[in-house]
Amino acid sequence: MRISMVSEHASPLAALGGVDAGGQNVHVAELSAALARRGHTVSVYTRRDDVLLPRRVEIGPGLELIHIDAGPPEHLPKDELLPFMSAMADGIADHWGDAPPDVVHGHFWMSGVASIKAAGQAMAHTGRTPRIAQTFHALGAVKRRHQGAGDTSPAERTELEPWVGRSADRVVATCTDEVFELKSLGVPQSRISIAPCGVDTNLFTPDGPAVLRGTRLRIATVGRLVPRKGVGTAVSALARLAELGLDNVELLIVGGATAAAELDSDPEARRIRALAQELGVADRVIMCGQVPREDMPALLRSVDVVICTPWYEPFGIVPLEAMACGKPVVAAAVGGLIDTVVHGSTGLHVPPRNPYAVADALARILGDPALARELGSTGARRVRSRYSWDRVAADTEKIYLAMLRRTSRGAVDLHELLQEPDGLSLGGQAL
Ligand code: UDP
Repeated sequence: MRISMVSEHASPLAALGGVDAGGQNVHVAELSAALARRGHTVSVYTRRDDVLLPRRVEIGPGLELIHIDAGPPEHLPKDELLPFMSAMADGIADHWGDAPPDVVHGHFWMSGVASIKAAGQAMAHTGRTPRIAQTFHALGAVKRRHQGAGDTSPAERTELEPWVGRSADRVVATCTDEVFELKSLGVPQSRISIAPCGVDTNLFTPDGPAVLRGTRLRIATVGRLVPRKGVGTAVSALARLAELGLDNVELLIVGGATAAAELDSDPEARRIRALAQELGVADRVIMCGQVPREDMPALLRSVDVVICTPWYEPFGIVPLEAMACGKPVVAAAVGGLIDTVVHGSTGLHVPPRNPYAVADALARILGDPALARELGSTGARRVRSRYSWDRVAADTEKIYLAMLRRTSRGAVDLHELLQEPDGLSLGGQAL
């Protein structure tokens, strides 16, 4: 199959841990590579965000990355990219030329907009159009529910995201919880499939080098340093642990800026430091900043428990990485974490935004090394059997083949596909 992946803001080559670079980058990179290993030809399209980037990067056999000129060639926050999605679509359709791929797979709602528009252009120019798959990675309706006024998504998302969902041949949800959300956006269940995110099971393994540690017990959070990741909950839980008699515990906070100076000026880092100070645990909170992906396994192996306590989480790759390294996870029972972490088998679920429950769960695991070992090894087995990228790519391939087997679009009428939702346009250009 010839497959186009569209990931407008999340390049597979970006450094991870910054505000807009996390799980989606990993997902697109690993899924594309695993599909290429299965013999497919995969082109990944992302926006050029640096003037020095080459037009084309050959990542490996059957796998290329194409930088599309769409908007200024510099980093822009993802929420500012909508006006450039028409140019993104033009660039993709242009690269396809007379030979559109079999499948175009949009990642994030804005890439969905660009994919649908590029598919429409292919139809107009060649009489053929790729099948359209869509993975949202995050949904605006959920973000708005949790972040309220803090949600900086463009207003058009409310209309365009459900439109993308309804226009795609197949929406690939990454977890069960997302299926319910998609249905409430009007996506028919018959066009929703589930393929989770995966983890690199060769890189993330229980055995291997571990970062040095002292005599303290060690817990860690890993992820972009944004409020909804719930790092504040972990800091509060650390303070509560001391009240429970466990004061010999350090908390590593991994993610955020690369340089210490940047971390000092980062508003979330400052908020976290102030909270740690106020709760009297600042000496046991270590802000590590961004850690390169290749160093992550050694870091995870050095901890006793990994804490994932987001307010909400579309999927969450970090718990899988922790489990793959044989570590128990204390996870908020939200989004993808409901599927990936099995309460009592691979970690413990806690209600979201509840530091008391997090501290109780941590105390239980930290106080019982046999339980910690058992949770860790069950987690490692679970990840290896269910969440390798090869398995995720095989599931995704089945979804693509099912789309291709349909001779007509069925419920998705191409005419409808090319219609813009009422009154919406992208930066002055009609969809
Ligand atoms: N990550 C990293 N270095 C950091 C922080 C995070 O390599 O300093 C990686 C992390 O290991 C994981 C990804 O970024 O692979 C975060 O993915 P997740 O799905 O947990 O969160 P998202 O960023 O998509 O919300």
